[in-house]
Amino acid sequence: MSWLEIWAMLQVLAMIVPVVIIFGYIVYFIIIETIKQKMCKHINYYENRACHAICNRCGKDLGFIGTVREQRKNGL
Ligand SMILES: [Zn+2]
Repeated sequence: MSWLEIWAMLQVLAMIVPVVIIFGYIVYFIIIETIKQKMCKHINYYENRACHAICNRCGKDLGFIGTVREQRKNGL
């Protein structure tokens, strides 16, 4: 293998590696977020501007605040 080929390969790697790392990070955070939301019981929540209940712990959108309150009242 010539130096030119190695250099060309490094150039390609220099372009691919950051993309792979960034993509890996995004996938990692999505997985962590999904696991967190799956494990979370969403006991405490607050209301956002769109009148949706947002979980305090995991930040999941639980849906319309009225519906969530109704469900909690019924012990679900
Ligand atoms: Zn939650």
